[in-house]
Amino acid sequence: MANPLYDRLFGAHAGKSTPFLHLPDGSTLTHDAFLKIAAQIANAMTEAGLKAGDRVAAQIEKSPEALALYAACAQAGLIFLPLNTAYTADELQYFIENSGASLVVCDAAKSDTITPMAAALNAQVETLNADGSGSLMDKASAQPDSFATVDRDGDDLAAFLYTSGTTGRSKGAMLTQNNLLSNAETLVDHWHFTDQDVLLHALPIFHTHGLFVASNIMLLAGGAMIFLPKFDLDVVIARLPEATSMMGVPTFYTRLLSDDRFDAELTKDMRLFISGSAPLLAETHIQFEQRTGHRILERYGMTETNMNTSNPYDGERRAGTVGFPLPGVELKITNPDDGSTLPDGEIGQIEVRGPNVFKGYWQMPEKTAAELRDDGFFITGDLGKVDEDGYVHIVGRNKDLIISGGYNIYPKEIELLLDDQAGVLESAVIGVPHPDFGETVLGIIIPEAGATPDLDQMMEAVKTSLARFKHPRKLILMDELPRNTMGKVQKNILRDDFKDMFA
Ligand code: ATP
Ligand code: MG
Repeated sequence: MANPLYDRLFGAHAGKSTPFLHLPDGSTLTHDAFLKIAAQIANAMTEAGLKAGDRVAAQIEKSPEALALYAACAQAGLIFLPLNTAYTADELQYFIENSGASLVVCDAAKSDTITPMAAALNAQVETLNADGSGSLMDKASAQPDSFATVDRDGDDLAAFLYTSGTTGRSKGAMLTQNNLLSNAETLVDHWHFTDQDVLLHALPIFHTHGLFVASNIMLLAGGAMIFLPKFDLDVVIARLPEATSMMGVPTFYTRLLSDDRFDAELTKDMRLFISGSAPLLAETHIQFEQRTGHRILERYGMTETNMNTSNPYDGERRAGTVGFPLPGVELKITNPDDGSTLPDGEIGQIEVRGPNVFKGYWQMPEKTAAELRDDGFFITGDLGKVDEDGYVHIVGRNKDLIISGGYNIYPKEIELLLDDQAGVLESAVIGVPHPDFGETVLGIIIPEAGATPDLDQMMEAVKTSLARFKHPRKLILMDELPRNTMGKVQKNILRDDFKDMFA
């Protein structure tokens, strides 16, 4: 028997003294040293009574040990459940209870709150701090540094990954070994990753982007990562010259562009910049190319499916699009009312099918049934279209669609126009309750630093370009948009803040 995920991502590197993690203090952890830490953790968890299929919830800072906990879970057949470090104790209670975790790993600073909560739910608690200290590593370091890998099947669950909660309460997506491995294989190939690559990794590892896209790819390719605890502009600029590639959310790229030190010289040895998790403004894409000569490769995915589409590595990377369906992934645009497939060019809901698509939401059979069709297509909740050249465009989330006086209004169309106006950094268009129209359009404008955009003039521009039913009833200036840790704009917060504006 075997354990495909562990064998391919981790076991394949046993005994190799090749660099795996380049750390902030300048030191480097080899593949073999990393695997030994993982084996020690696997031994410690097994000794604590955990058995294949048990869940391990982890709310911990990013560190080599935190990544080794993921490897240890894979090796011991445990289901890994990484949690956003920003979650409060109340939120954590939900995740521990919902997942039925047997072990909760947390920062020592939080153990006083978490221990009684976990005890009430029959879960053990161990601590793991940002510097790698804590009870988990105390126990692990007394253990042998090899572990007999537990047999697993490709269809066995490897992780419960909770969605970002951008549109409501986070859902636990059940991901199998094959879901993760098949996507990593596709992406290594598609993006040309090899053991010569060094990826600058400044993303969190509790989310699919930093964990299953970035880390799984580098593990499969056998390359190294510059493993930074967070995105710190100075540190990223200092370490970029050592890297060959970087993955980021759009805010990473806008922050780099805001700094004059970021230029063609600094990025001359880079081969690839990838963006995802939120829409990259076409403007950022263009500025980036002007500044560095590199075209950012934008891709599209989600917790439930890993990656679905990508701009081409060799062909044209088109700003404002997320490229083509990845090999093995089928994508169609459907009518939200009856699920029928729409012709190219029309906007509808994006559905995907492939080996990457998850098994369903943990303990949410109704939600699973509503979003995962019997024939395997997953209704992503995003709206989009496929253009005449086959590029996929995301126009926003189904939940952000505005229906005013019976008309469908896609916020993205209005946002693109507002973003183009003088002095505008970015914008968010939302629907708010209105007594006559059901909903009406509100435009929120974020000015460029030091600029004071003329809202009346902007409204004139809107009137000449857009049909009347799409005109924002009002434009409002704000300093910044509310964003979650992945840089996603939280329109639900905006909708809530402005819900009484016309009511
Ligand atoms: P929740 O499902 O809990 O509301 P979420 O959808 O934000 O949260 P994730 O799985 O982290 O949780 O994010 C996936 C979503 O991110 C996609 O459905 C899509 O809306 C958005 N997204 C990802 N990549 C891109 C991209 N390149 N362009 C536009 N949107 C993107
Ligand atoms: Mg989602």
